[in-house]
Amino acid sequence: GAAINLTNIEQRYGGKTGSVLALTEVNLDIASGEFLVLLGPSGCGKTTLLRIIAGLLKSTSGEVKINNESLWSDGQRNDKVMQELGVVFQDANMFPWLTIQDNIALPLKLRGVGKEERRKRAAELCELVGIKGFEHRWPRELSGGMRQRAAIARALSCRPRLLLMDEPFGALDAMTREQMNLELQRIWQESGCTIVLVTHSIREAVFLADRVLLLSPRPGRMDTLREIPIARP
Ligand code: ADP
Ligand code: ADP
Repeated sequence: GAAINLTNIEQRYGGKTGSVLALTEVNLDIASGEFLVLLGPSGCGKTTLLRIIAGLLKSTSGEVKINNESLWSDGQRNDKVMQELGVVFQDANMFPWLTIQDNIALPLKLRGVGKEERRKRAAELCELVGIKGFEHRWPRELSGGMRQRAAIARALSCRPRLLLMDEPFGALDAMTREQMNLELQRIWQESGCTIVLVTHSIREAVFLADRVLLLSPRPGRMDTLREIPIARP
């Protein structure tokens, strides 16, 4: 079934009648387990769309459903639905005063998970994302790529069914980025998550995605949200 369902999403900045129309008539179903990449040039509304799916922004109109439940009702965000989501941004946003393990396990701590279980889960996650052995290091002791791995681990800590990523490797050098693409593909296969990833890199999109949607420059109408066919060997 659909993990994410968007109906008639419209986003204006500057209030209901605001002058910047970032998205309009976006209708989209994302299947459970799918790896969807949103591709498009700067300013076409990719981040806006991801933030709307992540519940970080309430669209001016339209409806977002996650696993068939509305993300918003009566202007209130549905916290139960939010628990299905993990989000990764361009910057890892680690707390510098917490070790890698404590950063990764912070969402678990906030949910009242005990210390021993947090330690165990953080160790599992470090293994999954390829930073085993770095649990007790400080974020500044890790390279940018390793910090992004830790950010992915943190996003996965509460076992979300959906992983939303906004240019997760955009700040990394080209070599690290290639490596991270391979790693992410493996993480996706092992975790079984549905992933929505935003990028402006065609190469990254074609490498990672089951399905690539191209968001054209403004306004991001559905007729410009095109599927790009990708040939698989
Ligand atoms: P992308 O991620 O594809 O670069 P964005 O979603 O960031 O695009 O932006 C889409 C459009 O909305 C752009 O024209 C941008 O300038 C505008 N925009 C984004 N955020 C805001 C904001 N907070 N206030 C006003 N305009 C915004
Ligand atoms: P950036 O987001 O830093 O501007 P791009 O989106 O252009 O980078 O590229 C993303 C990744 O794809 C990088 O690892 C880059 O080395 C690689 N890449 C981009 N264009 C090409 C190309 N024509 N041939 C091979 N690799 C490319």
